Amino acid sequence: MKKPIVNSLSVTTVNVPLKRPIVASLGTFEKWPYMLIEITCNDGTVGKGYIGPYLINYTPAITLTMKELFKNFQNREIAPYQFYNEGMNHLSLLGRSGIALYALAGLDIALWDASSKISNEPLCVHLGGTLNNVKAYNSSGLWMDDPKILYDEALELIEEGNFDAVKLRLGRKKIDDDYKAIENVKKGIGSDSLLLSDFNQCLTLPEAIHRLRDLDDQDLYWFEEPIKYYEFDGYKQLRKRMKTPIILGENFHGYDHAFTALKNNISDFIMPDLMRIGGVSGWLKTASIAESFQISVASHLFHEVSSHLMRVTPTAGLLEWTRWSDIILEEPYDLKDGHVVIPNKIGTGIDFNKETIKKYEFKI
Ligand SMILES: [Mg+2]
Repeated sequence: MKKPIVNSLSVTTVNVPLKRPIVASLGTFEKWPYMLIEITCNDGTVGKGYIGPYLINYTPAITLTMKELFKNFQNREIAPYQFYNEGMNHLSLLGRSGIALYALAGLDIALWDASSKISNEPLCVHLGGTLNNVKAYNSSGLWMDDPKILYDEALELIEEGNFDAVKLRLGRKKIDDDYKAIENVKKGIGSDSLLLSDFNQCLTLPEAIHRLRDLDDQDLYWFEEPIKYYEFDGYKQLRKRMKTPIILGENFHGYDHAFTALKNNISDFIMPDLMRIGGVSGWLKTASIAESFQISVASHLFHEVSSHLMRVTPTAGLLEWTRWSDIILEEPYDLKDGHVVIPNKIGTGIDFNKETIKKYEFKI
């Protein structure tokens, strides 16, 4: 049976404001760049997807890379997984990571959306799964702000979608301020909720040994990225020393990086990022690797497509949810009792908000 032919690509970049600015050890971000990708097939199907590559000034380079990669797939019958594997081979010449991989991921996400639309199914069903809600935690706030404001913010985050899990950023200069932040957030969320923590790689290994040891009895669900993401030996040491589970993975570039990390036994969970792991295809490979190591998979950002993927991830754990992408979408996904509701629509159901594009389009 013939499949539709992939015809054209359109990439639009927007730089949108964040409701709660990100105040992290890596920097303060008041705006967030999104690249909106649309791939049109000859039957009129339009596959849509987006990536969020952090640094707005690099987006023109990613657009150019995407257009160049797309030439390999243009005028061929749509075959997302085949295209992804060919794309990864092609990228061997540039390196299978970084912005070249982000570009391939953006195409892959839009191609899978098109492919599931052609099959008249939601993405998770197209991938062989079933439609259902996905357990999530609210990651939309609790940055490295003054601990005093965190009680109110924690309450707000819980109420936003009847959540029972939130994430707090840690690694303040003084440990007492981390203690105060934890205390205030715990008061806000109550004893039945999970409290996750994220250090955004801000500690050196000796600092992490001290800080995590001190915080190890705080009943935190996990310690996320306490040290630089590539310090695998450090992660092994921390994992041996701490009771609290360790997680990383948002900075895995591609499934081969995830495999190396898991082979080295460096974390209790992983949290692949849809863009950095290589889109839907990269995620599927990583989910199988995690299953073979019997490691639970959380997600990082991109909750719309990630929620579909969690439905076909054998060791699926918690989905990260934020409001950041609401502004670029016609219809953001709903929340119900701490779960993300996957809409019963073909593809991912993602459509871009034209007003947002008009207002926040980024042009060089
Ligand atoms: Mg993180």
